Amino acid sequence: MKKILGVDIGGTDIKLGIVSAEGEIVESGKIPTLAGEGPQHAAGRIAAWLEERDAGHQETVAAGIDCAGLIDGSKGYLYYSPNLPGWVDLDLFGLFSGALGMPVTVDNDVNCAAWGEYVLGAGRGTRHFVCMTLGTGIGGGVVADGRLYRGWQGLAGEIGHQVIDRSGPRCMCGTAGCLEAMANASSIVSRARSAIAAGAESVLEDSESLTSKDVAGAAADGDDVAIETLAAAGRALGTGLANIVHLFNPEVIAVGGGVAGAGDLILEPARESMRGQLMADIFASVKVVPAELGNMASLVGASMMALGKSD
Ligand SMILES: [Zn+2]
Repeated sequence: MKKILGVDIGGTDIKLGIVSAEGEIVESGKIPTLAGEGPQHAAGRIAAWLEERDAGHQETVAAGIDCAGLIDGSKGYLYYSPNLPGWVDLDLFGLFSGALGMPVTVDNDVNCAAWGEYVLGAGRGTRHFVCMTLGTGIGGGVVADGRLYRGWQGLAGEIGHQVIDRSGPRCMCGTAGCLEAMANASSIVSRARSAIAAGAESVLEDSESLTSKDVAGAAADGDDVAIETLAAAGRALGTGLANIVHLFNPEVIAVGGGVAGAGDLILEPARESMRGQLMADIFASVKVVPAELGNMASLVGASMMALGKSD
């Protein structure tokens, strides 16, 4: 039975999985990233991890690698990754195919998550699909007519950096009012804090440790400040989604990531906001649903991408 090695390189850990052709993770593990030791060092340790489990690659026929950052997936070229200091302008494709001795694919984590959801999760059965991850950052991957849409340098799908409100809060990218700055986890915390500081009554306390998950929990328990905080993020998200629909006409948009854990508390205001910004027939043509594969979506998606290259 042919299998694929899936590798998800994060800032702290590298998640590893041996994945079946059907997308089932047969064996999984984790090693430290040690980004400071450089990519060659990481590739060597990944190869050793695989060698211990499948000596001589009897079953593993290809590897799919993903990490956060600006990556041209058509060439496996990493421009820059915010999580991997010093990993700049690298031919990851050459490096990993050399270290592992098998065909590899390299793409950014959100494109891989989108591909995983398209093949095995919320986008199954469609040909036009968008997947958005909503967490510390906001990213997206676009599948157009059954193919991942990368753009000419692999930088398409940066849907978190579409501007929603030019007078909105600063974004880490340098612009103001990006979707990411208006609906990511830290924007939810700041909005809740501002409401509490302005005297609104809430079960939430303005503490250092306040998280977007706390806000979601309080909203689920009926706290008005928390509900309105998520609704405001949801309305910004709805504008972002309406723009995506105008551009790509997807059948399904899946929303994953930690913030999406709030479910309809954020998605329902987003759908309402979309309804106000789209023509009725267009609004009716698209479903906005939770993503299905959870935090293994990137690893599984990277494996499925590599599977396509393994024959
Ligand atoms: Zn931005």
